Amino acid sequence: MTYQADPKRVKGLIFGHAVGDALGVPVEFVGRGELKSNPVTGMRGHGTYDMPAGAWSDDTSMTLCLLEALTRDRRGDYRGLMERFLRWKNEGAYTPTGVTFDMGGATRRAISRFEYGTDPLLCGGDRETDNGNGALMRIAPLVPYLFVRFGSHLPAGAMEFVHDIAALTHRHPRSLIACGIYVCIAVQLLRGRSPRKSVWLGYRHAREYYQSANESFRKEWKIYDRLRDNDAFAALPEREIRSSGYVVDTLEAALWCLLTTTDYESCVKRAVNLGEDTDTVAAIAGSLAGLTYGFDAIPEDWLKVLLKREELMQAVEAFLGTLVDVSEEEVLLMGMGKEDLVRGILSDPHSWGFIEEWQGRYGVTNYSDYWGKSSLSADDLTERLREDRVSRYDEFQCQVLFTTLLREDHWNNGAWEKRWEKGEPQRVLRRMLAIWGEYVK
Ligand SMILES: [Mg+2]
Repeated sequence: MTYQADPKRVKGLIFGHAVGDALGVPVEFVGRGELKSNPVTGMRGHGTYDMPAGAWSDDTSMTLCLLEALTRDRRGDYRGLMERFLRWKNEGAYTPTGVTFDMGGATRRAISRFEYGTDPLLCGGDRETDNGNGALMRIAPLVPYLFVRFGSHLPAGAMEFVHDIAALTHRHPRSLIACGIYVCIAVQLLRGRSPRKSVWLGYRHAREYYQSANESFRKEWKIYDRLRDNDAFAALPEREIRSSGYVVDTLEAALWCLLTTTDYESCVKRAVNLGEDTDTVAAIAGSLAGLTYGFDAIPEDWLKVLLKREELMQAVEAFLGTLVDVSEEEVLLMGMGKEDLVRGILSDPHSWGFIEEWQGRYGVTNYSDYWGKSSLSADDLTERLREDRVSRYDEFQCQVLFTTLLREDHWNNGAWEKRWEKGEPQRVLRRMLAIWGEYVK
């Protein structure tokens, strides 16, 4: 029952992204007016970062980190992905020249938090000022990953996965929604639909999800209102399109370029020549155009100079190899929203499928660091499970506590059974449901 992703579109997605990035790097931060008199028409060297022609930047480096993590790691191993980001930040890994450059502030802060022991899912900044495009620019590999499992209509569990990946560096709901909209539209393109129809359907699927989600999502959703009517949006004059590093501007600019052109080359040229955050806008527009028109539509002249082309192709091929043979059970469980998952465990404590899915999503939580000690005794745990304490925990604390409970039973020592009889795990699960209920109110 899984879906097939066209390899040419998947290669188009990743190479379209890298080529757009590389076209934009030499003119990052250059204004639109200046580019009008000297527009980018192909790969240039030097400029803003004095890099050779064909050098791609943070956008593609971090995309490559995700691509490799999705290929090699267990789903939910956010620690593994953060460790790749760390090697990129500190060691120049995943870069075309061995030098890390063009790192956004929110991204740098998030990776540093991880470096100093923060749990991956809490590393991203969640203030309104943390809404740069740093999560959106690295999310592309999720598109084929989710498409082969769910087709073009993503269930709650898939949306939550997008949010978790985004939250590693950018945790504000506005950034999470931008990534959600991008993925919802892109899976339509991967299915072979036109840009116009994809934006229309993808936006509506996203709206359906966010408007029934929690209050903060519903409130933030309005910010993306210009995308509601894709024809009116596409008809906006260029002066109405901002191409800054603010996530809303970047998403709009990339979609506008996609909707107003009919081939890969003109789409990314338009994106770069909007100016300002040229590499990221062109990378995102390029990923969407690459999905739409396929790898063969990317000019060979540009691919020829793209640095580390072979390595990128190997990474994409390896990733493509993992997109087959996905089990139906995995798809079913992964598609479940966390609320349904918790209800599933509550209704049957022996439902190991639900419990394993929980562990897959949150099991890498560094609970020992969180509790401030390397291990938690049974008495310590019992103390933390007291009703009056549980009722004050937030969602993350509940996640940590529940994961700790499951770990206690690691050797099938019967601990889980005993605690279930005492009603302790249920207390944590019910607290989570209450928190999500509170969000909705
Ligand atoms: Mg960049």
